[in-house]
Amino acid sequence: MNFDRSVALTHYDEKWLDLAQLFRSLSLEVLNDRDVVLEHLDRPYFDEIYADRTSTCFERARMYEGLSYGDPSVLLSCPGPSLSGIVLRELGSQEQQDQFFDHVSRQRARTCMAVTEPEKGSDAGNPTSNLNGDHQLQAEKWLVGNGREATMGTIVVRTGPGPYSIVVVMLTPETLSHAGTFRQLLPLAGLQGTGLSHLYFDNVPVEPEQILGMHRRPLERGMHAVIKTFYRMRPCVCAMALGNAQALLDHALPYLKTTSARELHRALQSQTDSARALNHHAAQRIDDQIFDGAAVSLAKACATELAEKVARSMPLLTGTAHFLTNTWLQIATTNVHGYEWMEGSLDMQRLNIVAGYHSPAK
Ligand SMILES: Cc1cc2nc3c(=O)[nH]c(=O)nc-3n(C[C@H](O)[C@H](O)[C@H](O)COP(=O)(O)OP(=O)(O)OC[C@H]3O[C@@H](n4cnc5c(N)ncnc54)[C@H](O)[C@@H]3O)c2cc1C
Repeated sequence: MNFDRSVALTHYDEKWLDLAQLFRSLSLEVLNDRDVVLEHLDRPYFDEIYADRTSTCFERARMYEGLSYGDPSVLLSCPGPSLSGIVLRELGSQEQQDQFFDHVSRQRARTCMAVTEPEKGSDAGNPTSNLNGDHQLQAEKWLVGNGREATMGTIVVRTGPGPYSIVVVMLTPETLSHAGTFRQLLPLAGLQGTGLSHLYFDNVPVEPEQILGMHRRPLERGMHAVIKTFYRMRPCVCAMALGNAQALLDHALPYLKTTSARELHRALQSQTDSARALNHHAAQRIDDQIFDGAAVSLAKACATELAEKVARSMPLLTGTAHFLTNTWLQIATTNVHGYEWMEGSLDMQRLNIVAGYHSPAK
């Protein structure tokens, strides 16, 4: 199950390889026990995952790829601020940020960001869930990572009918444990560590202080901040797809028996290197405050399509017998199909790329 460290070092920083090796060793266990990672949180550098509040987009992209090379499902089961941390950094007041990050790092808490609704996935900017005039949350969200266990998080809801009445509300331990909050785990065929959940909030009271960004102009508060958060996090999803693809390619190395298999491997490795460069470029632009949606979407489209191509090529690379009988390989090729749905599907990325191409700022 372990990977060859000397091969991994040709792609990744030494810094993340011990944790990546740990994640790889938990690949099977996490399928049935999403808490398996929790007993390892004292390992070196783990605090940079669960207590992160300063990472740049570029640093996150490198970390996510190295750790996904180990196992993306284990990475997604880890405690930490994740997407909600980015939206808090974007939109939260100092008090809100302190409340959120202090809780997450002290409790080593899992967090969630609830955006998707049963009828509103790609159309995330038009939620039905709402916060009414009495500050009660009436919401249904699903496909929310770590939604059942999270003790902190955020939720996107509307406060009125208009496009500027969308807000992000902090989900505190009190909100998440309220009697009107119902949370259940959804069955998954891949990336089980994600713990995708279905959440209902039945008139759950919320304090006005839980609404993020009230110190900002209405235009900067709602979807604007959510879109910026997605831009800042999308390179991490690319990185996960690339880490997963790289793990598959390296796994195939000892099994390349024919010239055509070796040539196919070389071509896929070269495409992976290019997609990685594209992703690093997109992440760097985000850190330079250039919100180049087209660059981020192009990187995401290339990374997910490539990862799926690598997964499809595995029987040709390793031989069918090995492909069909190696358990880790079956898990890793299944996980690849999750990235398409994280942070926007391929169709949505293509729409962003076209919009960026036609934008006057190009
Ligand atoms: C591993 C994983 C983790 C996730 N984590 C979270 C999370 O933490 N929080 C959260 O809120 N959600 C999360 N999601 C949900 C994810 O954001 C949604 O699956 C995604 O937004 C797509 O929504 P949907 O599933 O409703 O598909 P739909 O939006 O119904 O899309 C179905 C198909 O229609 C296409 N389509 C839709 N609209 C258009 C259009 N306008 N033009 C062209 N084609 C279109 C799409 O490309 C897709 O192929 C996660 C999903 C996965 C798989």
